[in-house]
Amino acid sequence: MKYIFVTGGVVSSLGKGLAAASIGTLLEHRGHKVMIQKFDPYLNVDPGTMSPYQHGEVYVLDDGAETDLDLGHYERFTSSKLSRLNSLSSGQVFETVIRNEREGKYLGKTVQYIPHVTDEIQKRLFDVTEANPEVDILMTEIGGTVGDIEGTLFLEALRQFALEVGRENVCFIHVTLLPLVRAAGEIKTKPTQQSVAKLREIGIQPDIIICRTEHDLDEDNRRKIAMFCNVEKKNVVAFRDVEHTIYQCPLDLRRDKIDRLVVDRLGMSDSPTPVLDDWEDFVDRIVHPKESIDIAVVGKYIELQDAYKSIYESLTHAGAHHRTRVNIIRVDAEALESHGPQKVIGQVDGILIPGGFGDRGIEGKIIAAKHARENGIPYFGICLGMQIATIEFARNVCGIEAATSTEFEKNASEPVICLQEEQKGIRDMGGSMRLGLQKSILFAGTKSATLYGDVNEIFERHRHRYEFNSDYQDKLQDCGLIISSVSANEGLVEIIELPDHPYFVAAQFHPEFLSKPNYPHPLFAGFVEAALGNKKRAELEEPVAE
Ligand code: GLN
Repeated sequence: MKYIFVTGGVVSSLGKGLAAASIGTLLEHRGHKVMIQKFDPYLNVDPGTMSPYQHGEVYVLDDGAETDLDLGHYERFTSSKLSRLNSLSSGQVFETVIRNEREGKYLGKTVQYIPHVTDEIQKRLFDVTEANPEVDILMTEIGGTVGDIEGTLFLEALRQFALEVGRENVCFIHVTLLPLVRAAGEIKTKPTQQSVAKLREIGIQPDIIICRTEHDLDEDNRRKIAMFCNVEKKNVVAFRDVEHTIYQCPLDLRRDKIDRLVVDRLGMSDSPTPVLDDWEDFVDRIVHPKESIDIAVVGKYIELQDAYKSIYESLTHAGAHHRTRVNIIRVDAEALESHGPQKVIGQVDGILIPGGFGDRGIEGKIIAAKHARENGIPYFGICLGMQIATIEFARNVCGIEAATSTEFEKNASEPVICLQEEQKGIRDMGGSMRLGLQKSILFAGTKSATLYGDVNEIFERHRHRYEFNSDYQDKLQDCGLIISSVSANEGLVEIIELPDHPYFVAAQFHPEFLSKPNYPHPLFAGFVEAALGNKKRAELEEPVAE
């Protein structure tokens, strides 16, 4: 078993997660079985209760774990299937240590940071390797920046761990920033030197240094970093800003042969050269599209780059599949309330309403769904976007004017979306959610079934609390709504669609968590195809100038 630890220096948001994921891609293309995990030093037990403003998207795994969005990168860049073991926070570590202490598991000893907390951190490395015996390389990314007080225990744990499993089985990679001081016209290596000095203070000598730069890394700077940071010059790797897409990162990192450096360091020198044809082809489809479409994503955290990360990535995958550039028009739902649909989304080729919580912007989203339904514009609703489509249909097609969700109006008279009886009264924020991979039945003859390739069952990841109210099912179906999928266990509505519309499909689950670069999710692929068709149709209908 071999281990890679990825730490970060100087500043956060360096793309450490992307660097780890990209190394994972390269190692996997060499034929290795790779697993990636994340250690986050914050005290929250998981990011499920953090605001998207704090944390960006919450990424949900098969087993229902609510994790950091970097785990999304890991799953998209590699084929490893992650579980809750792959995400560890200080909150979880302390929760366990304190519980153990209360249960008397430390046999009367004084419970201390070292060894009790650091042992608990190391245990998670052993737990993952034990649970995944087929894996031969485990890569662990440590969140935060070296020098943060809260990260110190994690780094100490890694130092001890490397001694335990043998330093020859461990590769420490430090990702750092080389800022350009414009006035001097110089790239500066000092912050890197200092952050590596911090690591060495703890007793960790990095083996490879990945330098994030806006520019090329010249020989002089490589030599300087090598000398001051005590690594070989060839182990100083440049990681430039990519031009078109994050999927170029593995190819970019390969220019300095990062994967060769890693396998050499880990004594796996017989590892074959990677064959990256499929990845290169995928990147080529993004970089050289033949068509382009505009998709409005109508949400509430629109200004945040990371809040709908997996949705944007899934649109990229589906776009690449159709050799189409997907331009994302981020629309604040509240703008639709004040300006109306024509002005805000009158020109787009498709409308996507993502997941969300709370009632802000709801009416704006309903306006968007109505606009899509009435004008034959492809509509894709995800989770909240499915509930919105249901409410809009109930109000404007079935004439149930007061239709809403009990999430927005506790004592709603027409709760077309509501809590299931058994959820009521659950207090724990996480407790009442439907989370993780669940089986649903697909009904033959529906558009959804066709998109999925006419299978009878699908497995999709969930993260929501409210459900389509079955009391309204008959009425809505009588008005023309098609229910194309229900959950296998309880018959809860999973997908709705409309007939006689180019694409009006909305799912209660989150398809964006299962889309992969060369395997776009069928509902995304179908949506992009429909939007492309919509654009072409609109172009044909445009009056030709005399
Ligand atoms: N707020 C809705 C619910 O809890 C939708 C959740 C979501 O979109 N993830 O059911």
